[in-house]
Amino acid sequence: MITQTVVLSAFLCSVHSFTIQDSLEKSDQYSGNTIEDDDFSISTLLERANANVGKNFDEPLVIGDIAVPTGFQNADPCTERGCLWPKSPDGNVYVPYRISRQFSQREREVIIQGLRSFAQSTCIRFTPLNRQRDFVNIQSRSGCYSFVGRRGNGQIVSLNRRGCVFHSIVQHELLHALGFNHEQTRSDRDNHVRILLQNVIPGMEHNFRKIQTRNLGTPYDYSSVMHYGRFAFSKNREPTILPIPDNDVVIGRATQMSPTDILRINRLYRCNSTAPALQIQLLPEPEPVQRNHFL
Ligand SMILES: [Zn+2]
Repeated sequence: MITQTVVLSAFLCSVHSFTIQDSLEKSDQYSGNTIEDDDFSISTLLERANANVGKNFDEPLVIGDIAVPTGFQNADPCTERGCLWPKSPDGNVYVPYRISRQFSQREREVIIQGLRSFAQSTCIRFTPLNRQRDFVNIQSRSGCYSFVGRRGNGQIVSLNRRGCVFHSIVQHELLHALGFNHEQTRSDRDNHVRILLQNVIPGMEHNFRKIQTRNLGTPYDYSSVMHYGRFAFSKNREPTILPIPDNDVVIGRATQMSPTDILRINRLYRCNSTAPALQIQLLPEPEPVQRNHFL
């Protein structure tokens, strides 16, 4: 009985918040879709900061803002070895980190704030490195990038001091490190966006390929911090990503993780934290585990 009440109130809550969100979206969905309005979208920030990414000899191959281990491009090491971070018996997932001394005190604070934000609504706990083998090694390299999932040993998360030290980018890159891909590469993205490859800078088409992702029963989310903006990698100031069926919906402008981003972490890592999940429509968990989830 108690369970039924909880489920019912969660359902009512989701209906209610959807109504509010709908009206909010309607009020501004027809404004602010110019390329200038996209100046601070995640993808614009990444594009700007990644102009010279990965060109140093000691850096990994970087595609978009995803680092790829050379020699493994066609394989999917995640499915072979498991690239989730391990869960501790207390239910939390501890992800050790080290932050390079390259960063100023102010930059360090922005990064730590980003790391801490995960603990507010998920079971992810970024903790200072203390002799663990696997950890995220946060440095200011040639751009903003991260590997997808746990790679083993110290894995670089690059947050260039000029262009990447923003709350949204910190969360974005760490979501990659936790195992997430870009929203517009989701397996079901063709139901929600149209990719206009004719407007994409030649050679950048790979940023728009579709991946057989596990979507964890969560809806496609235009406001995910993992969603690129409509002019991402545009060669002609024309859109490269169009939301469908309503082309005017605002996309890719998240300044922080959305409730869906949080729900996905909680589902992928089977966290018990559920508070933010009540604000969005809950779908059944489903989907057989698909291969090629990561990269
Ligand atoms: Zn990314």
